[in-house]
Amino acid sequence: MGYPLYVGVHVSISGGVSNAPDRAYERGCTAFQIFTRNPRGWKYKDLGSDEAELFRNKVARYGYGNLAISHMPYLPNLSSPDERIYNLSLESFRNEVIRAGLLGIKYLVIHLGSHMGAGFEAGKKRLVKAIDQVISSVDNDVYILLENMAGQKNSMGSRFEDIAEIIDSLSFKDRIGVCFDTSHAFSAGYDLRSKDSVDETLREFDRVVGFKWLMVVHINDSKVDLGKGRDIHEHVGLGYIGEDGFRCILRHDVIRKHPLILETPVDERREDVGNIMKVWELAGVEPPEELVERWKAFLTSEKRSYAKGKKGGWG
Ligand SMILES: [Zn+2]
Ligand SMILES: [Zn+2]
Repeated sequence: MGYPLYVGVHVSISGGVSNAPDRAYERGCTAFQIFTRNPRGWKYKDLGSDEAELFRNKVARYGYGNLAISHMPYLPNLSSPDERIYNLSLESFRNEVIRAGLLGIKYLVIHLGSHMGAGFEAGKKRLVKAIDQVISSVDNDVYILLENMAGQKNSMGSRFEDIAEIIDSLSFKDRIGVCFDTSHAFSAGYDLRSKDSVDETLREFDRVVGFKWLMVVHINDSKVDLGKGRDIHEHVGLGYIGEDGFRCILRHDVIRKHPLILETPVDERREDVGNIMKVWELAGVEPPEELVERWKAFLTSEKRSYAKGKKGGWG
């Protein structure tokens, strides 16, 4: 798929994971993200091979390729000091990597969890063990992308140094990458509101972690101010980072060449297409006519209100 920007939303898998590529296509996404199962529980059914094949065929037909991305469910905590939770988390994680492989998905975004007060070093040991174990035992091509966190108490990987240290400690690094979430970075204290602050934050990311690890970017604004340490997403441009901040983020050479995923559920102020169009606009890139046509068709269809009323946020 050759587009000047790869922008899309987190799409629902309601009715089956194979419905997701259609939803992405209808919304004029040039990249998209899914959960492969209900993200709010521990239980899940195995992925049917027909369902997986249908998903792969649609991804191929629409030309998404590696631009179909998966996000881990919310409950697993790969840094947990609690043996039971840790083992459950490890099993979920292993299963997600397998599922992503079956779906032909290249990138799986994971949260780094919470050490629950046991300290960063203790959490890191657990987390690194989990990633090493899964990468060395699941034989597929799925990359594990470590997502920077929002600075919540005891969270792992809110500072760029933490992410660098985690990567450094891994024995198996050939299927590792980083997902940069703008909202999380901002809540964790990295300013992104102006050209100077965006340049400085991204320079810092490059210096400490390295752009070579960056593979996906989550484009979310923040409902909380700089450094508040809380993870509350806002539609792009409508929060504390604001349109000026995103204009600079989206015009940054390194950021804009990666898949850009929006993770804010539809509400009365913005729906998916509105968010996607906003990214193209702030990036200063003329969208291809074919996408504009798809947006128009979607905005006049009944599907527009689909997913309205969904509670909570995505990833
Ligand atoms: Zn995110
Ligand atoms: Zn996430």
